[in-house]
Amino acid sequence: MIGLMMQQPLLVASLLTHAERHHASQEIVSRRVEGDIHRYRFADLARRSRRMANALVTLGIRPGDRVATLAWNGYRHLELNFAVSGSGAVLHTINPRLHLDQIAYIVEHADDRIIFFDLTFLPIIDALRARLVEPRLFVAMCDPEHMPETQDGPLLCYEDLIDAHSDRYDWPSMDENTASSLCYTSGTTGQPKGVLYSHRSTILHSYAGALPDAFNCSARDTILPVVPMFHVNAWGLPFIACMVGAKLVLPGAALDGKSLHELIQTEQVTVSAGVPTIWQGLLAHVSGRNNAFPSMKRTIIGGAACSTSMAAQFQKLHNVDVLHAWGMTELSPLGTVCSFKAHQLALPDDERYAVQAKQGRMVYGIDMQIVGPNGQPLPWDGETVGDLVVRGPWVASAYFNEPGLQPLCDGWFPTGDMARIDSDGFMQITDRSKDVIKSGGEWISSIDIENIACLHPGVSSATCIGVHHPKWDERPLLLVTRSSGSTLDKDELLTFIEGKLARWWKPDDVIFLDAFPLGATGKVLKNKLREQYGDHYAGRDAPRQV
Ligand code: AMP
Repeated sequence: MIGLMMQQPLLVASLLTHAERHHASQEIVSRRVEGDIHRYRFADLARRSRRMANALVTLGIRPGDRVATLAWNGYRHLELNFAVSGSGAVLHTINPRLHLDQIAYIVEHADDRIIFFDLTFLPIIDALRARLVEPRLFVAMCDPEHMPETQDGPLLCYEDLIDAHSDRYDWPSMDENTASSLCYTSGTTGQPKGVLYSHRSTILHSYAGALPDAFNCSARDTILPVVPMFHVNAWGLPFIACMVGAKLVLPGAALDGKSLHELIQTEQVTVSAGVPTIWQGLLAHVSGRNNAFPSMKRTIIGGAACSTSMAAQFQKLHNVDVLHAWGMTELSPLGTVCSFKAHQLALPDDERYAVQAKQGRMVYGIDMQIVGPNGQPLPWDGETVGDLVVRGPWVASAYFNEPGLQPLCDGWFPTGDMARIDSDGFMQITDRSKDVIKSGGEWISSIDIENIACLHPGVSSATCIGVHHPKWDERPLLLVTRSSGSTLDKDELLTFIEGKLARWWKPDDVIFLDAFPLGATGKVLKNKLREQYGDHYAGRDAPRQV
């Protein structure tokens, strides 16, 4: 028997019409690349998105066409989210930190019809034009006064398009499975691959992300997504803000500690989200102070492991709760969030931090398992490590325009991460499977070693890699950046690590660096470090005590 409920498709534009009707006067604040702070309201967002939807029709964009952006988090980028997806086309948010060759590759691969860009990225656009096989339309996201001089071909002006079009536009109804946006993986191995989100997956992901045990967002919040829209739709937070009617603060290109702190203070931000490298800059900026973010209640940290020392700084010094989260481009991106269960609230501090070092529990909608080499499910005992596989309505089932690639394995998506899951359902990533260290046939978790190194106050950040060893195949090598003013040396750090790990997990050497090489989404490029330090232990015969 079929239920007798209305069939109403889940569409991205419905988030905007809801926000306009119920939260019309809620603010959206953007730091513009022009340098000033721009303010308007959800009612303005809705009106201007409809104007832009009309402009796209004039420019010949049809349902299913790809429209790309090279842009920071700002109100015009937000308008494009609704104008493009809402009208049935596909918003392709390009990560400007990718190599130019990769950007050219994905523009061709996605067959983007138009590229909208922030002025910061004009040099990329100029370099790109020469490389593209077919001409594309380019739109500078600025007003006529800020239009750049460019010798390299025609350029349209965003505000001219807005001004020339009416704000009367009826968002079309369509199948909720229609594609709405496209994000490419960062392509650390091989070419980037396109993940094609649908209206349905986007709405379901927004419902899940807003839940109290996920990002916990409401109409009383002010949300600062530091994570860019070109990094998996800013983890869905702009959509969630529309769904719940939260104030949105968009930081533009200024992601340094000072600018973020200023924005948090002046806009009274209550929730923020970003990768650990961003928070390192913010914490360094306020170092020496306590309670530096009085309005901020919680910060979502993901994209790479959040160390215990980072969680402790936010919580102990600044009274800001940390929500450690895990996800990936192929998961829209939300998979797990580390929020406490009731029985964990009364645990002593060190045990609570041990829970928070985990990536957390799956949000409803995501199903996951850890599996062994033959695909057999492994126990959730908090110790056994296996390959993490996931499934759910916002998990990719295939890659865009890659008919030869079949990513699923028995209906599950293999994440490429190694993890353990405890009996409470808390998942902890131990490594990317390609980063795991294999010493004498046994596995060593690089992330566990990094977490312990980061507990030393003299360590600003730590990365552990497996490098070739003549006797043990691989041994861990620890690379560290020092906190400012620290004179920490190798012996002191190795003594500190001693006793906190199995003895044979202790790195054989430590190298101090000024900075780590970072990839397009702010993650440490371990493959680069392995290339550089791969022979570090050549000729050594370090003793190993198991
Ligand atoms: P991306 O698709 O660029 O977002 O990268 C996804 C990958 O980032 C995951 O498969 C993990 O390897 C890593 N990742 C994301 N969040 C975390 C986290 N909280 N801790 C450790 N690794 C993470």
